[in-house]
Amino acid sequence: MPECRAVESLIAEFASSLGVEVKLREQVSLVPYTTLQAGGRARWLLEVRNTSEFASAAAKAQELGLRVLILGSGSNVLPSEDGVDELVLVNLCRRVEIRGTTYAETGAAFQDVFLKCAQAGLTGLEFAVGIPGTLGGALVSNAGAYRSNLSECLSEVEIVQDAERKWVPPAHLEFKYRDSVLRRPNPPAIALLAVRLDLKRDAPRAIYERARDYQRQRIGKQPPQASAGSFFKNVLDKSLARSLDGLSVSMQEAGVVPAGYLIEACGLKGYRIGRAVISTKHANFICNLGGATATHIRQLAEEAKRRVQDRFGVTLEEEVLYIGNWGAQE
Ligand SMILES: Cc1cc2nc3c(=O)[nH]c(=O)nc-3n(C[C@H](O)[C@H](O)[C@H](O)COP(=O)(O)OP(=O)(O)OC[C@H]3O[C@@H](n4cnc5c(N)ncnc54)[C@H](O)[C@@H]3O)c2cc1C
Repeated sequence: MPECRAVESLIAEFASSLGVEVKLREQVSLVPYTTLQAGGRARWLLEVRNTSEFASAAAKAQELGLRVLILGSGSNVLPSEDGVDELVLVNLCRRVEIRGTTYAETGAAFQDVFLKCAQAGLTGLEFAVGIPGTLGGALVSNAGAYRSNLSECLSEVEIVQDAERKWVPPAHLEFKYRDSVLRRPNPPAIALLAVRLDLKRDAPRAIYERARDYQRQRIGKQPPQASAGSFFKNVLDKSLARSLDGLSVSMQEAGVVPAGYLIEACGLKGYRIGRAVISTKHANFICNLGGATATHIRQLAEEAKRRVQDRFGVTLEEEVLYIGNWGAQE
């Protein structure tokens, strides 16, 4: 197995480049690192606690050509039960500073960034309330809610690419609806370290009011069980939206068809495979009732896709990212 040996020796070189206080672990279960609480093991896993550790690890891995998977809170991923062979870097860099400019490291919880900005009278991130991931994961999927997206609030992003640490404009990440260059097939190796945000001023009280309103709407809709949030992206299709009688007028006008609407229309609320279930509260949430396997969760998602395709001729696109060795299921 020459390829395997090569990876082992690259990892050995990578490990020897780390400071003594940083520990590379092997065969680590990813269950506690994901909100779906499912999946196999990471062959190698390293937790990075400050941006200089993070930047050095990312640069060294890029220099060696090692494949890296960066994890924030694991709230938008489903790891295969067969594990993840990439080097997993868990991002625990959480510093947020508001002094003139607003600086936040990508391991900060997106909601904490919102709270600190709100306290300082900066508006724009209210939609982040209730989104459980880190700022880094939010960047990768251009996270959003209530018709706002993170990419609208950015001034600059600090990255490591081609083993070089640098600040780049947001356009470098090619943001679209729930998408960035990091979600495309064969994405470039980019580690997102930090951002500078571009936010407007408002009274903290008005900001909290808006956030509270969003939070109330969320509590009414979101199931309490373990999940990765919306499993599929909403469908942007004006003619489909207009053809659906049950859809609200505002959705029809905006040409937005919620994926949950389509899945529910196929009668799949409450549908189960093993301990994985399509939520009875919100059909775009696949939940783990406790002990669900990653394979069952993915099978459920495939079934929902198949039924929606058959009934509406629409191919749902996953918002959740499948990571690791999915092999034949890919
Ligand atoms: C209950 C619930 C509600 C949710 N509601 C919403 C919602 O309203 N809107 C929405 O958009 N999302 C929502 N989500 C999905 C998810 O929380 C967001 O996408 C979140 O921003 C992901 O962050 P994370 O840290 O968990 O990312 P992870 O799941 O850890 O990673 C996601 C992807 O980003 C990559 N990545 C993470 N950090 C970095 C980094 N620093 N550099 C490079 N790549 C990185 C990972 O490799 C992976 O490909 C919800 C999830 C849950 C569980």
